[in-house]
Amino acid sequence: MSARVRADVVLPFKLARQGAPWRGRLPLAAFSRLGRLVTDAGAAVDVELDFFVDDDGRTRMVGRASTRLGIECGRCLLPQVRDYVVPLDLCIVASDDAAAALVGGVEPFVLETEETTVVDLLEDDMLLALPGQVCELPETCPNRPPLDYPGDGEARTEPGRSPFAALSELKRQ
Ligand SMILES: [Zn+2]
Repeated sequence: MSARVRADVVLPFKLARQGAPWRGRLPLAAFSRLGRLVTDAGAAVDVELDFFVDDDGRTRMVGRASTRLGIECGRCLLPQVRDYVVPLDLCIVASDDAAAALVGGVEPFVLETEETTVVDLLEDDMLLALPGQVCELPETCPNRPPLDYPGDGEARTEPGRSPFAALSELKRQ
């Protein structure tokens, strides 16, 4: 990172009090953990966020992050390029205690200072949105392994005891 002020620094509590949006495009490389898992680190992430104080007086951040990523398929080991739109809905709280006290199924984000970055706000959700298996179906994976299994007789052969050993025993009788 350069020494200049990062463009994605935000003050969520202040933005929420103002009811302000945040829109921007961030380089995927800014997401250090996510960038390690994908093959196209030159891609961009388009971010649309709205900060507001909800009816219960809580600081909320709702929006989405859109990007197009190449992720290596664990099955075929080839990068599969997909569009990802990650919905975001966080309740930003000032302490772990406040996070533990949240009700209503909202996802907490603990922020003990006024300032953070959009990358920090988004990266966990973006990581969770990555699919465990990129090629959804074995049939569509370009490099799927063969689906047939070894025959029963072969699988049950005891170590050191080949079918030929059994055959030679028969011959000796
Ligand atoms: Zn695959």
